[in-house]
Amino acid sequence: MKSYKVVELLGDGISVELSKAVHALSATLPCKLEFVQVDLSEAARSKEGAAVYDEAERALRAHKVALKYPTTTTTEDLSPNKVLRERCHFSVIHRPVVTIPGIGTNFTKSIDIDVVRVGIGGTYDDAGRRLGPDTAVSLRVIERLPSRHAARFAFELAMLRNCSVVSSSKYTIQKGTDGLFEEACGNVAQDYPGIPYRRELFDSMLAGIILHPERYQVIVTPNEYGDFLSDMLCGLIGSVGLGDSASYAFADNGTITLAMFDPAGGTAPDIAGKGLCNPTAALLALASLLRHLGEFDAGKAVRAALLDSIAHGEKTGDIGGKLGTVDFTAAVSRRVGAHLRSP
Ligand code: ATP
Repeated sequence: MKSYKVVELLGDGISVELSKAVHALSATLPCKLEFVQVDLSEAARSKEGAAVYDEAERALRAHKVALKYPTTTTTEDLSPNKVLRERCHFSVIHRPVVTIPGIGTNFTKSIDIDVVRVGIGGTYDDAGRRLGPDTAVSLRVIERLPSRHAARFAFELAMLRNCSVVSSSKYTIQKGTDGLFEEACGNVAQDYPGIPYRRELFDSMLAGIILHPERYQVIVTPNEYGDFLSDMLCGLIGSVGLGDSASYAFADNGTITLAMFDPAGGTAPDIAGKGLCNPTAALLALASLLRHLGEFDAGKAVRAALLDSIAHGEKTGDIGGKLGTVDFTAAVSRRVGAHLRSP
């Protein structure tokens, strides 16, 4: 059985319960995950300061792949996500958004879209400044290299999914910045002649997704557009907290050097320690991590077992079920074997 070391960045609130669910499910897989835990909880951060981040960075650089659980950000504290992003140079964010049968939605069509976004720059690196009382300005940064990395990631994903890629921005208006982003995507597209590729203006693409979601599979965008798009898609599938997200760092030649997977939701302090939390997003993060490790069948089986369990009503209280965290995880775990065997 193949074995992998995976760094676990433990956070706050429901973090420990999510980690236990991940461990329980991992025990059912046809590969072995050895977890290397680093405590990134608020208590550890306030006691040890930068040393916890040193340890997290060291572990990530040694083992290359991590699962991160939700962390709180207090006003006197820096956001752990921001610190990790800067230290590890994560420059691309991947957010898969898939309809989960059994979750109530306002939108009735199915969605299976991978949002790949440049995770740095855009308007987010400069909070802007006032030019006098009634005018403000901020700097918007688009760089070729992270745009190329995002595009390459998107095309590699499209190869795995056997689907198309859309790059999207406001390139007719933001000709300098978004023009550079689209130029980088177009250049990468030439290396993937077998993958259907088109560019769409971001505003009309939003309407396109709502009218014809089946036309969209992998979408690559600059930072802020990807941020807006991910949340809109989560709204369409009925939840902002049930998905996972991944952050990647790259060598200049485009190979992935570090990968970190995390559940999108928060720390849920109100239910922490009560055995009630829904580990779906954490288990989806595990499925994405398995795919990254090359354990495609295991990743697919975890995802399928989760969807299957929820579709059969075996789900946690927050989404209308009756199960606690442990029983839900057991229900998913029981189904993994069947999905590993099915083609
Ligand atoms: P944070 O500051 O970490 O974002 P929060 O309480 O402000 O914490 P969330 O963690 O997103 O925000 O929680 C919002 C609501 O959703 C809470 O009532 C919480 O119990 C619920 N919730 C969040 N995550 C889960 C989960 N995994 N399972 C069940 N309920 C959840």
